[in-house]
Amino acid sequence: MAVNKKMPGIIIRDVVVVPGMTVNFSVIKKEAAKACEEAMHSEQLVFVAYQKEKQKLNDISSLYPIGMLATIKQINKLPDRSVQLVLDVKSRGKLVKALNDSFTEFSVREIKEDNDLDRFEKEARLRNLRELYLEYSMLNPKVPKVFDVLSRDVEDLNVAMDRVLNNVILPYEVKVGIVQIIDIKERFDKLLKVMTDELEVTRIRANILKMTQDKVSKSQREYFLREQLNSIKKELGEDSVSEEAQFMEELNALEASDEVKEKIKKEIVRLSSLNSAGSEASVERGYIETLLELPWDKVSADNTDIKHAEEVLERDHYGLEKVKERILEFLSVRALNSKGDSPIICLVGPPGTGKTSIARSIADALGKKYVRISLGGVRDEAEIRGHRRTYVGAMPGNIVAGLKQAGVKNPLVLLDEIDKTSADHKGDVASALLEVLDSEQNSKFRDHYVGIPIDLSEVLFIATANSASDIPGPLYDRMEIIEVSSYTANEKFHIAKEFLLKKQYEKNGLKSSQISINDAALKRIIESYTKEAGVRELERKIGEICRKAARDILENGTRKVNVSAKNLEEMLGRPKYRADSKNKKDEIGIVRGLAWTPVGGTTLSVEVNIMPGKGAMELTGQMGDVMKESALAGLSFIRSVASKYKIEPSFFEEHDIHIHIPEGAVPKDGPSAGITMATAVMSAITGTPVSRNLAMTGEITLRGRVLAVGGLKEKILAAKTAGIKTVLVPLENKADIEEISEEIKDGMELIYISSMKEVLEIALS
Ligand code: ADP
Repeated sequence: MAVNKKMPGIIIRDVVVVPGMTVNFSVIKKEAAKACEEAMHSEQLVFVAYQKEKQKLNDISSLYPIGMLATIKQINKLPDRSVQLVLDVKSRGKLVKALNDSFTEFSVREIKEDNDLDRFEKEARLRNLRELYLEYSMLNPKVPKVFDVLSRDVEDLNVAMDRVLNNVILPYEVKVGIVQIIDIKERFDKLLKVMTDELEVTRIRANILKMTQDKVSKSQREYFLREQLNSIKKELGEDSVSEEAQFMEELNALEASDEVKEKIKKEIVRLSSLNSAGSEASVERGYIETLLELPWDKVSADNTDIKHAEEVLERDHYGLEKVKERILEFLSVRALNSKGDSPIICLVGPPGTGKTSIARSIADALGKKYVRISLGGVRDEAEIRGHRRTYVGAMPGNIVAGLKQAGVKNPLVLLDEIDKTSADHKGDVASALLEVLDSEQNSKFRDHYVGIPIDLSEVLFIATANSASDIPGPLYDRMEIIEVSSYTANEKFHIAKEFLLKKQYEKNGLKSSQISINDAALKRIIESYTKEAGVRELERKIGEICRKAARDILENGTRKVNVSAKNLEEMLGRPKYRADSKNKKDEIGIVRGLAWTPVGGTTLSVEVNIMPGKGAMELTGQMGDVMKESALAGLSFIRSVASKYKIEPSFFEEHDIHIHIPEGAVPKDGPSAGITMATAVMSAITGTPVSRNLAMTGEITLRGRVLAVGGLKEKILAAKTAGIKTVLVPLENKADIEEISEEIKDGMELIYISSMKEVLEIALS
C-alpha cells in the first residue's frame, strides 16, 4: 500500500507531461523555489499538477486529481531568486491535498501502474496503436516517425501510450483527460478513439489541401501553357493583340454615348481580371460582344421622298388602294414631323393578304433596314425583354436581338402576329410590348440581359394581326389599325398574273420562254384548288407547277411547258374544292346564310325539318353556343307571331323541329345566322319554298329586330361566287356596305332589312 508523501508542487497549465519525459521548468514563486531547493536535498521528488483551464487557482478543485511525480535532475538558481529545473517525469501520482494556501506543497500518493493484461491482449493493443500512429505520422509530417516513438522494443502498453500521447498534437484538455484515466483498458480505448477522430480530421484536411493545391497547379499550368502559346505565336509572327485590347479597339470605334462607353469599358476591365478559361469569363465575353454589336447611336439615312414610296408600293402590290393611301398619309406625316410620336401602324387581315410584304415594301421605300420579329406563340415575357445574366445561357430578348440584326437604331421592325401572344404566369407579354411601343417609355427600354437602357424611339414599328379583337387592349389603344381584307377572285387572278407568276418563275429558275400558265388555268386554280382569303395557297400551287415543269424540262427535254385548264389536273391532281354554288331549285325549309371565317367568307345552307312529335327542338351540325342561342331566340320569335302567319297554337306541341347545318368540318359560331335559321323554320312550317337566288345575314332579337353583323365584304363575295344575286343585309350595316368596292357589288342586289317581318315578306313571297 502506497503512502502519502509530502513534496513541492509545480503547477502547469498548457502542456501535458507524461512519464519518461525530461522537461525544463522555471519556478518563479519564491516559496515554491525554496521548496524545490529543499527537496533537492532530500528525496529530490516534485509533483507536477495540471491546472484546469480557465479556472483560478484558489481551491484544490481547480487542479486535476492526477498529476505526475518527477525527480529533480538539475536545479539552477537565477539572480532573481527563481529557479530553473530539469525534471525526469517518473510516474502518475494522486493529489491528496494541498499543504498550504499558496499551493507550493502537496501531499501526494504514487500510483502503481495497472498492467493487468494478458500477453495477447497487450500485443493486439500495441499493434493497433502502432498502426494508428504510423498513419497519423504519415499524414502529419511534423510529428516524429513511428520507429522513433514506438520502436519494437517498446513492449509496455503504458509506456507506449505515454509516448504516443507525448507526440500527438491534441488539445490540452483532451490530453489531460486521458492522463487522468487510471484503468489501462479504459485509457487505451479513450486514446484510440481520440486518435481515430484526429486521424479522420487530418485526412480530411489533407484532402482539402490537396484539392486546392491541384486547382492552383492547374491554373498555373494553364498560365504557363498560355505564355508558351503566346511566345510560339510571336515566333511565328502570329501574335495577335490581346482580347481586351481588341475589345477596347472596337469600343473606341463604337458610335455610342460616353455613358454607354464607360459602362462597356468597365466590363472589359472586369473581363481582364477573370481567369480567361473560366466559365465566368466566357459569360462576360458574350456580354461584351453583345454590347459592342448593338447599334447604340448608329443610324441609317431615311428616304423621305413620298413619290418614291408610292412607286415602290405600286411596284410590289396589286390593288390595296385604301391600304396604300393610308400608309402614304402616315409616311407623309412622319416625314414632316419626324420628332412627333406617330402611332404604330397595325395591319389587320386574314393570312396571305400581303401584310408582311407591305411592311417590307415600306422599309424598302424608306431605305430602312427591315427586321421581322415573330410574336406568334410568345408566352414568356423574357422572350421580349431577355433573361438576367445570372441565368445559365441567358440571352437578350428578341427586340434587342432584332436591333442587333439590323445594325442601326432606326430600322423598321415588323411585330408579326401581335394578336397571337398570350399571357401566363411567367409575366405579361403584352405589358412588355407596351413598354416597347409606348413613346413615353421606349427611349429607355430595359432589356434584362443588356442592363443598359436602350433607345427604341427611332425604330419604326409596324404590327400585323389576323384579328383586331384578339389584340390585347392597351396595345390596341396605341395602334392605328389598317384593315387588309380578303381578295376577290378577280383580284387574286391579277395578283397571280402580275406578281406571283414572276416571283415563282424566278424562284424556281425558270425563264418565261420555258413555261406559261394561261389565264384559264389560273382561274381554275383559284376556284378549285384553293380556298383562302389571301393568296398564299395560290402562290404555293403556282410553285408546285413550276417545280413539276422544271423537272419535266430537265428529265424529258421539254422545251416549253404550257399549262392550261385542261392539263392542270396532271400537275396538281384532282381539284380539292367544289365551287360554292347555289341550290338547283327553290326548296322548302332550306335557306342560304353567309358566314365569315378567318380564311374568308363562305355560304352556309340551313336546313329545317318538321315532323310530328312533342315540341322538341334539335340542333345539329358544327354549331357554337352563340349560334344555338340564336336559333332558340328565332324560334321564340316565331312562336310569338304564329297567329299572324296562321299557324295553329297547338302546332308547336305536336311537332318536333330539327335545324341542321351541313358541311360540319368548319365549325361556325356567332349570331349572324339568326335570321337565316328563323326564315328556314318559318319556310318549313308554312310549306313555302325560299328562292335559291336569295342569301341573307343578320342577328335576330327575341322581338324580331335585325341587328348589324361583321365581315360583309367577305360574305357578299361568297354569295357572288356561289352565283346568288340577292342578299339581305341589316340596315344597320349600310355604312359598311357603302365602303365595299363597286367591283364586288356589281351585279348584286343588296336589300336592307331591319325586322324579321321584312325578311319573311321577301323570302316567303
Ligand atoms: P400576310 O403577311 O398577310 O400573311 P404575306 O405578306 O406573307 O401575307 O403575303 C403572301 C404572299 O402573297 C407574298 O408573296 C406576297 O408578296 C403576296 N401578295 C399578297 N398580296 C399581294 C398583292 N396585293 N400584290 C402582290 N402580291 C401580294
